[in-house]
Amino acid sequence: MTQQPRLNFKFYLLGKTVKEQNYYLDCDDGTRLRLKKAPPLLISSPTLWQVLPHIDSDGQIKTVTIETQADQGQANFCSLVGRIIQRGKREPTILIKVDFPRQKPFKLTLVGANDEMKVGQLWQIRARREGTILKLIGATIITSEKADYSQQVRVTQITAQTLTSDSEECISSNQSLESQRTNQQDNNQVNWASFAQTSNFSLTLTGRLEFNQGNYYLLTTEGTSFLLKKMPPIVSEEPKTWQVIPSTSSDGTIANITILTVEEEITASDKCYLVGTITQLGTSADVVLIRIARPNQKPLRITLVEPFPWMKVGQNLEIVATREGKFLKIETAFLPGTQTIPSLDETNADSKNKSSSVNPNEVLAALSTQTGINSWQIQKEKKRPDGWEWEAVSNLTQSTARVQIKDSGATQVYQYSATASESSICAEDVEDNNHNHSERLSVRPLGAARSIGASCFQVHIGPYEVVLDCGTRFSLEKPLPALEYLENPNLLLISHAHQDHLGGVPVFHQRYPACRMICTTGTREIAHVMLTDGLKIQQLNEDSPQLFDSIDLEQTLWRLETMPVGIDFEPLPGLTVRFINAGHILGAACIYLQYGSRSLLYTGDFNHTNSRTTTGMKLADLPQAEILITESTYGDNIHPSRKTQETELIEAVVDVVSRGGNVLIPAFALGRAQEILLALRTSARFQQLKVPVYVDGLVRAVTNVFEENLDLLPSSVRNFREQCQRQPFFDLKSSPPIIPISSNSQRPVAMAHKSVIVASSGMLVGGPSVYYARVLLERENAAIFICGYTDEESPGRQLQNLQTGDLIELDEQKISVAASVKRFYLSAHADKVGLGQIIKQVNPKHLVLIHGSVDGLHSLARAGNYQSSSYVHIPAEGEVIELGVPPKHLNPTQVASLKISSEVTLHVESMGDQTYLLKVDSSAQQDPRFWPLFGTGRLQGVWKGSSLTLTALKSTNEHSPTETQETPSETLDNSHPNLDSCGLCQFLVQSCCTHPDSPLFELKVDPQGICSQFQLKNN
Ligand SMILES: [Zn+2]
Ligand SMILES: [Zn+2]
Repeated sequence: MTQQPRLNFKFYLLGKTVKEQNYYLDCDDGTRLRLKKAPPLLISSPTLWQVLPHIDSDGQIKTVTIETQADQGQANFCSLVGRIIQRGKREPTILIKVDFPRQKPFKLTLVGANDEMKVGQLWQIRARREGTILKLIGATIITSEKADYSQQVRVTQITAQTLTSDSEECISSNQSLESQRTNQQDNNQVNWASFAQTSNFSLTLTGRLEFNQGNYYLLTTEGTSFLLKKMPPIVSEEPKTWQVIPSTSSDGTIANITILTVEEEITASDKCYLVGTITQLGTSADVVLIRIARPNQKPLRITLVEPFPWMKVGQNLEIVATREGKFLKIETAFLPGTQTIPSLDETNADSKNKSSSVNPNEVLAALSTQTGINSWQIQKEKKRPDGWEWEAVSNLTQSTARVQIKDSGATQVYQYSATASESSICAEDVEDNNHNHSERLSVRPLGAARSIGASCFQVHIGPYEVVLDCGTRFSLEKPLPALEYLENPNLLLISHAHQDHLGGVPVFHQRYPACRMICTTGTREIAHVMLTDGLKIQQLNEDSPQLFDSIDLEQTLWRLETMPVGIDFEPLPGLTVRFINAGHILGAACIYLQYGSRSLLYTGDFNHTNSRTTTGMKLADLPQAEILITESTYGDNIHPSRKTQETELIEAVVDVVSRGGNVLIPAFALGRAQEILLALRTSARFQQLKVPVYVDGLVRAVTNVFEENLDLLPSSVRNFREQCQRQPFFDLKSSPPIIPISSNSQRPVAMAHKSVIVASSGMLVGGPSVYYARVLLERENAAIFICGYTDEESPGRQLQNLQTGDLIELDEQKISVAASVKRFYLSAHADKVGLGQIIKQVNPKHLVLIHGSVDGLHSLARAGNYQSSSYVHIPAEGEVIELGVPPKHLNPTQVASLKISSEVTLHVESMGDQTYLLKVDSSAQQDPRFWPLFGTGRLQGVWKGSSLTLTALKSTNEHSPTETQETPSETLDNSHPNLDSCGLCQFLVQSCCTHPDSPLFELKVDPQGICSQFQLKNN
């Protein structure tokens, strides 16, 4: 996973990469630096690496990220151009912000700043690594004044190249190298910034610069010479690949060019890619004038030669042109939406049309050699990024095996079973634990407690520690659940593939590699895209903690086992697990656990109403359970009818697009987005309008998974496909066309004419929906329709409360709202009513409310009179809920007034004629309603006719004088002189037992009772 090296930052280290508990780079001078991510290669001989250091505020290198292996470069030297944004108060440290094209800026602290360096200045800097610090060894200020370019000819050596490979000598700050300043100024400020904004047009030329009679020319390698309109950013006589913008004359000739930047990352190509509108067609000559919109910049007008006969003024086109000499000729062009987009073709071909070329016998052979079993039945094959995968079942052994044959030819097999092999858990452990904990049941939330995000629950059931879900939350400080509470988990079960339930699974697997992880088939299919996206986001964000790497991800997906829905399985001896359809999204399940008489139900996220991509959860599927952990997302709401909401949404969309506007529907990539696509797709009203629907972001990848797994979707979706013979989601040829956006440069097209855009994320936090919202919010005839859950602080929620003309900040840009904003409830979660129904059905002793806002949780807890039949818990993170233990906020009187059915288990410790000495189970002692019954945990039971009277026993230490008087006198004992009974026992002293091994020790005893320590009194 090599990153593109950064142009404006070079730092090389010589050393070997090591993996121990973490990854390290052992430098040649003996310094060990920890790596933030897995290196591209583990090499045990000293190798030169280009790295990015992460530096503390005191200048110490904390970790480094290896970007790539370097061919050349001077080890331990670092060069950069950056702006000083902070100065250390005491120490000579400075915080520098380094800008990169199309990447986040990078901040780092350097030591050894001199007094001339001031905040706000731009400097070219050279530094050297000494141990674990980067010390400044030379710096040159870059002034911002305009320089006279005509005087710069002389200074040709100062290029990006020499900046990195120059010798150790310092570039002194008082040496006046004006040329250098201006070069760097242009190089780092102007052009890179503008380059990022011209992504809707790209043309590269390879050649060297010539200076002739006051003008610069670019002489291409094949011999064409272009006049430069402006001074080039870097003056170099070396041939380079340049990113350029051409100015064309009306006959299509390139009159001159503007160099934007030197392109080190892109291999040169004569192809030119653009998206634009035809504004003029040549009448006699074979030319076409195209207008190319560029965000935040003047549009670019360009004349191309050889237009296609079908082209018309006003059309939006995607065009690939080829440069031939001084002309740009059209090579291909297509109308977005009517022609296939090439990149989509490729993905489709990969995942749908092609099947693996592997012979099934090869798969069977791999299975039987690696498992020793011959009775495998292969199920359908799946394309994975680097090969093919099959799942096979053996009815003989009730086990499942997974086979992967990579494109490289490498084969691996993983076998697992629905029933636990005894060896999978240490038998001794279980026996030992069985003895102590067979009745144990407790829950501790490690996330999603009094909030939504990072769902994770530690459950102790019988002898086992089971973990339910391991999600992440949108937080740079604390993205993970409180995994530190985990002791030695035996099993991880995953409810569904939303990041807040799944995102942390690779971290879990990294920490507990031997622990089985099980989910439904649908969840694992989606997990591939969701976790890959999670890794990508984490890697793109410099500030984000790197939770896992691609190796962890690959291993997690490989080891993630699947079990069918609605069927009991036994992953650990004695532990029954069942996945129950949760109706929330494809693959989502509630999880039921049972061990002996202990039972627990975790809802995950659920929805009891049908939607287009899921069948609603059926109440009757839910068993009763002692503990119910339920989501409470909409604990505070009653949803309007889903059908009505959907109709209203379509009406609203039709209204906006028929007036020529654009509708943006920010949607959760998984679930909501596919619902909306199907709703649009099947609406006759919308179809008549023939308005294209664009799909952008993670939505695309997830939708592809849906299309590949139609067998997991409701029959209505499969029927649609069979009847229409069309794909239910993406369809470029349908009316309306549903078009995936496959590159950033296509985005302006989606907004250039009336359209519907479905893009992630749903809350306008990151993702392409933010990009579209920034443009569309300012348009009066546009609309943004919010369709799902939004966090309180999210822009998606803020928007709902804004009026026309109000300002909103999106991605650090203030935007005045002109578009209309509406909210629709196409929720994938049950509302207050649905929640109430399942609570009634499950009838738990403990109702644990999680996955909701604090207000929502409390509102739900107050609502349904649940308090009278269950202990209702709204636990904080880390709080333990133990079966039988009421929540702390209830006082004993309140507890006693509850109608919670609770049983007391009594063990007979000794018995007399009509009398028993009974021991009370310790769990019952936690229930205050039983407190009046016993002080010591022991009771005396006496049959009086058909009723049993229980009396609490007190220890002798607590005797009160009156009680002593009331105790039956020893003389009574003589009434049964012939029986072996406590009354005749030598250990009976003052009505109390004095034998330390007796269960009655120190207790007032019934003289007619008896225990195992009985010994007849001597006299
Ligand atoms: Zn969910
Ligand atoms: Zn959730």
